[in-house]
Amino acid sequence: MTDRREQIAGNLARVEERIAAACAAAGRPRQEVTLIVVTKTYPAADVRVLSELGVRHVAENRDQEAAPKAAECADLPLSWHFVGQLQTNKVRSVVGYADVVQSVDRSRLVTALSKEAVRAGREVGCLIQVALDAGESGRGERGGVGPGGIEELADLVARSEGLRLDGLMTVAPLTGEYAGRQQAAFERLMDLSTSLRASHPTATMVSAGMSADLEQAVAAGATHVRVGTAVLGVRPRLG
Ligand SMILES: *Cc1c(COP(=O)(O)O)cnc(C)c1O
Repeated sequence: MTDRREQIAGNLARVEERIAAACAAAGRPRQEVTLIVVTKTYPAADVRVLSELGVRHVAENRDQEAAPKAAECADLPLSWHFVGQLQTNKVRSVVGYADVVQSVDRSRLVTALSKEAVRAGREVGCLIQVALDAGESGRGERGGVGPGGIEELADLVARSEGLRLDGLMTVAPLTGEYAGRQQAAFERLMDLSTSLRASHPTATMVSAGMSADLEQAVAAGATHVRVGTAVLGVRPRLG
């Protein structure tokens, strides 16, 4: 094994152990939680290593970087998740490779995603990104819609051609009532997911937790954790 491959394999094994321990502590079967490795700022060669090591889900947050990387890795059996703030002028490109867009947070974006999914003959999974630092009906500083805006957006996704409503996503807020209280934030997201599933029973995905707080996310009931740094290393500033 090359040094880089060895390093990634070791990191991945440690993250796997953390997820398994968190599942055990929560009394949840390990298969309930899917690891998504966030590959932003890291090269396609690392994505290839991840795929060889058995990773099946990767995530990116900027189209300029993600599009060429996904193209280079098109031969790999990977699902690509888009997790960054998404401008409508990038939607055509993103729909070309993303299986799931986790950052759906406004109706204009839904309309654009639907149009491009239909055009491309693809079905794109959508998560509503929830901002827990925005008040009931505001918008998050790093994207996301306040809890009061979920239902309307979810209904719009569910009736849009080419789109599939998969569930909810959040990033633990740095400000507001949930700052520094990841577990409480993720539990709030779970409550919102329970409400959503009353009207959209198949929207079961709950994407929460990153390198620093995946344990709290698993404890709260997350189905997907998005881990970058703990698998690939500390990123250079940008990204
Ligand atoms: C970068 C990023 C992650 C991963 O964060 P780490 O702290 O590196 O694990 C997760 N989710 C989103 C939306 C991100 O942008």
